[in-house]
Amino acid sequence: MVKEVFTWINSKIKTFAASAPVSLEEKIRLQHYIIFMILGIPTMCIFGVSNLLKGNNLIFVFAIASAFGLIAGLALLRKIKKGYWVYRSNALLFVCLISYMIIIGGDDGSKALWAYTIPLICCFLFGTKEGGMWSSLVMVIAIFTFSQSTIFSIEVHNYPPSFQVRFIITYVFCTIISMWLEHSRNFFLKQSEASGADLIKKHTKLKEEIKYRKKLEKELITIARIDKLTGILNRGAFFSTAEKEWAKHARNSKPLSFAVLDIDHFKTINDQFGHPAGDDVLINITRCCINSIRSFDMFGRIGGEEFALLFAETELDVIKSVLERLRLAVESTSVEYEGKLITCTISIGLYTVIPPNETLTEMYKKADCALYQAKNSGRNKTFIYR
Ligand code: GH3
Ligand code: MG
Ligand code: MG
Repeated sequence: MVKEVFTWINSKIKTFAASAPVSLEEKIRLQHYIIFMILGIPTMCIFGVSNLLKGNNLIFVFAIASAFGLIAGLALLRKIKKGYWVYRSNALLFVCLISYMIIIGGDDGSKALWAYTIPLICCFLFGTKEGGMWSSLVMVIAIFTFSQSTIFSIEVHNYPPSFQVRFIITYVFCTIISMWLEHSRNFFLKQSEASGADLIKKHTKLKEEIKYRKKLEKELITIARIDKLTGILNRGAFFSTAEKEWAKHARNSKPLSFAVLDIDHFKTINDQFGHPAGDDVLINITRCCINSIRSFDMFGRIGGEEFALLFAETELDVIKSVLERLRLAVESTSVEYEGKLITCTISIGLYTVIPPNETLTEMYKKADCALYQAKNSGRNKTFIYR
């Protein structure tokens, strides 16, 4: 229960401080300020009223002013960037109250013991340096007070010398410990900030690297699927895509047609005009194919001068006319290479079946068989396997 209450208070303080338009370090100082405020306001009020009842009006005034100062400061701290002046005004009021209590001593000099709260509060609000300075100021005031009998016509409490010595020594001790605590808190904060920034940097770099690698992977997949010379599917990609199409048609029992296309006497073209000229012929045939087939027909380069086509759900007559259009387009197109015109023809083998009656490999084999028949019967023609 107590743990839950503390966690709740802590989360509320953190949320409040997080909304202030200040740096992380100042947000933490603001959290300290709120904690001091939560403890300080009720303490000041009780302390002020009890002193008022005892007739000590000045303490009442200082205590209530300090409590109000804390509340007013909090309202200001949400709006301003540099909260130090609010802390300084509050610290000044508090130092006045403590100094007055050191002077009057009260209750056998025990009021002076409130001075021990100064080092901790000031170091946690201002940091090691300024906190140390405020603590030293109170120590100087205490030493000065001990050496006087009256200050501003107020009679100084008669502190025994042993009390004075112990008070100063323990106060110095308290100041050093507070400064050390603040120093290590700040040190660890800066260290965790630096490692946090380093982590963010590494994370950003890693994200960029992942993005780059994903892009590279995509490019590699494309490269692995595409034939470099013609820009169409290579043998592996054609057959893997054709397998998927085959499986789809095997489920629906729809006809599928496989055509193999081979350039006639291509070796002669290479021998006669050179390999680069042959390459241009391959590119030209690819172009003729793309122009003759439909966008949903599959097409790929499965060998040196060998291409494959897959027609799905298409009437044989339609395929025949597509292939005839293609054959005529190749026959009538010439490729210009270094001022010379190169013409060529193609032979085509075709096979149609309803999967799963035959596998894709069997279809390919039969289309290839038809191609050889086309070659053997004089080339530049389409042959259908029966
Ligand atoms: P056929 O009519 O019987 O098919 O005769 P062909 O000369 O076309 O067949 P063959 O298999 O004897 O020769 C094919 C040639 O294709 C041999 C090879 O040098 C050539 N070739 C294969 N790949 C490429 C390529 O990428 N570029 C070029 N320029 N030639 C290639
Ligand atoms: Mg060949
Ligand atoms: Mg050939």
